Amino acid sequence: MTGKRILIVEDEPAIRQMIAFGLRRAGFEVREAVDYREARAALADQRPDLVLVDWMLPDMSGLELTRTLKRERETRELPVIMLTARAEEGDKVNGLESGADDYVTKPFSPRELIARINAVLRRSGASGLDHVVEFEALKLDQQGQRITVEGQTVPLGPTEYRMLEFFMTHPERVFSRDQLLDRLWGGNVYVEERTIDVHVRRLRKSLEKFGLDRLVQTVRGSGYRFSAKAE
Ligand code: CA
Repeated sequence: MTGKRILIVEDEPAIRQMIAFGLRRAGFEVREAVDYREARAALADQRPDLVLVDWMLPDMSGLELTRTLKRERETRELPVIMLTARAEEGDKVNGLESGADDYVTKPFSPRELIARINAVLRRSGASGLDHVVEFEALKLDQQGQRITVEGQTVPLGPTEYRMLEFFMTHPERVFSRDQLLDRLWGGNVYVEERTIDVHVRRLRKSLEKFGLDRLVQTVRGSGYRFSAKAE
């Protein structure tokens, strides 16, 4: 079904080739890079639909690479899945904080990896040409940069828009305030964690008149989740 382009950044040839083989067989177009330098060259040459980044790279850590991609305007929308070894599991949280959309722990089967890739592509809206994401009565038009309920625009400030856009494309997952800061401000600006609460409050207020403020849920001790299920 696919034809989607995947860039693999992994220095270990055996693993890289195994992944590339599995993905090609599943119909993906694959490009390979062994380090940051090659990854940059590949990205400049042709934009992939998703990047797989290994945690350990020779010239720059996968974490740094991901952070860089998520910081830069041209690549920030690009979905990233990090590949980590079991020993690095404790660093998963870091991986997500760097802006990675998901992570897969080695060893993994090609099948498992492909399932995760497809899930991330679906979430990111890259699996179709339409940039419209719907969640309950909310309709996100990424090209038009607006969110509507039955044709009525939800009044949102720029930050609340970004926040709701992020929530709608990453539903049913808990994000810490720290992770939200990283995703919404790119992690390179100093913003207090409490700022998140302020924007969440504003966002709920905007959603209230549509009866949808219940979607933005507080998860005690953890952060926030955007969910259609009752809290
Ligand atoms: Ca490696």
